[in-house]
Amino acid sequence: MKGLVSLVGAGPGDPGLLTVKGLACLQEADCVVYDRLASPELLACTKPGCELIYVGKQAGNHTMRQEEISLLLVQKAGQYERVVRLKGGDVYVFGRGGEEAACLREHGVPFQVVPGVTSAVAGPAYAGIPVTHRGVARGFRVMTAHDRDGGLAQLDFAAMARTEDTLVFLMGLSLLEEITSRLLAAGKPPQTPAAVISSATLPGQKTAAGTLADIAEKTREACLPSPALIVVGQTVSLRDTLAFRRESPLSGLRVLLPCVGEVPSRLGNLLRERGASVTELAVCAIRELPGALTKEAVAGAEAAAFTSRNGAEYFFRQLYALGLDARALSGKLLAAVGPGTVEKLREHGLQADCVPQEHTAQGLAQLLRQKLRPGAAVLYPKVKGPALPLERELAGFAQVKAVELYENLPLPAPARAAEEEFQAVAFTSASAVRSAMASLGGLPRGARAVSIGPRTSAALAEYAIAPIQSKTSDLQGMIQILEEEFAWTSGNE
Ligand code: SAH
Repeated sequence: MKGLVSLVGAGPGDPGLLTVKGLACLQEADCVVYDRLASPELLACTKPGCELIYVGKQAGNHTMRQEEISLLLVQKAGQYERVVRLKGGDVYVFGRGGEEAACLREHGVPFQVVPGVTSAVAGPAYAGIPVTHRGVARGFRVMTAHDRDGGLAQLDFAAMARTEDTLVFLMGLSLLEEITSRLLAAGKPPQTPAAVISSATLPGQKTAAGTLADIAEKTREACLPSPALIVVGQTVSLRDTLAFRRESPLSGLRVLLPCVGEVPSRLGNLLRERGASVTELAVCAIRELPGALTKEAVAGAEAAAFTSRNGAEYFFRQLYALGLDARALSGKLLAAVGPGTVEKLREHGLQADCVPQEHTAQGLAQLLRQKLRPGAAVLYPKVKGPALPLERELAGFAQVKAVELYENLPLPAPARAAEEEFQAVAFTSASAVRSAMASLGGLPRGARAVSIGPRTSAALAEYAIAPIQSKTSDLQGMIQILEEEFAWTSGNE
């Protein structure tokens, strides 16, 4: 039995740009073989049990050779009825789809092609650039800057210099300077409008625009990451009228995010939604200390104070393990330091009774001082280790019952993290600072530290790092300060 292989174009990135037919193929698929450029959201459309195989390529780091990918499709067609080969953009626009289809034909495997929306046309459109326009450009040329030998040698720059057609280069970011200088040398006027569009149609879309003479420099200044398109021609100037998409202030910002616990983290996801490119680095593994919470500790407390999401999460796990549930907290004052802990309580069916305006240990302690009678017993779920600021603050007027529910185990950082370039390193807790410093040995060169609040800043100060600090000690505050400090405006819509 030979299954049907559908070569499906995934579109340029925005999942909404998948075709209706492509979606139907994905929904029916028993196996999907996909690329780096195929949007991960699309994989969520597959049915349970569908085998997902990543064969993505990254410059210089080929996961699987082209011949191997083609043969993998042949093999999977022998195993399943419906196989989808999902490729970024359109199947046949520099996607090597033709080679895959030819290999399937050679092995007698039935296939169909579901064309996709190509980045070569949709990318410029999302940046406000139509590839043709009446009276401006009567055609367009899509070229790859990389041929088989990896160079520009075979391109006819003299013809490109003469034409009014819009020129679109794919896979050209690393050769941008060479492309512009070859066009100039061939006589294309230096004031010809040009743009580079990075992560087109994605939340991180960012456009640098200028002229043939200065686009390389502008792109360098803007630190645009790949994938990117280069567009040259008079149609580029239409973006002043036709741009319809506000490029987010954080578009393209490269953030290193040391994470203690869950990855992907909440901040990571929030930053990605706003277009930042986030590398989450698990600097710490969390290990529960089972049995730390006792029925007596719960029963004896008049209040419980939560200063971290992890503390709250392990508290409830252990509460349930004791055979108790939220009712065990009935009548007790529940205090949460900020939005994250409030949300955690809500996940477990509880409303926080008090949340300080300033989301810090001091803020929480002050509030509890007003709410509690002197000497009241306060349960404090926390990480194993020295007393935290809240314990010290509370000790002045209450009886603190700290329960160490979990411990942080530092993880060595992958060497890669130290090599990559980042503009910002975002620290969301003092323990993230300590673990990150232990595993990274310092901030990556050229990166600024951003801190969520005073405690985290104090931890950074121990390493002689002066961070910029969120004004509100919460994740929204982190986003705000990043937008204020790093917004890159020139060339943005
Ligand atoms: N088949 C794809 C192109 C594959 S070649 C298509 O039709 O779009 C890969 C190149 O496509 C990248 O190097 C980049 O130049 C371009 N590209 C793909 N997606 C892109 C995107 N979202 N933004 C900018 N360029 C993109």
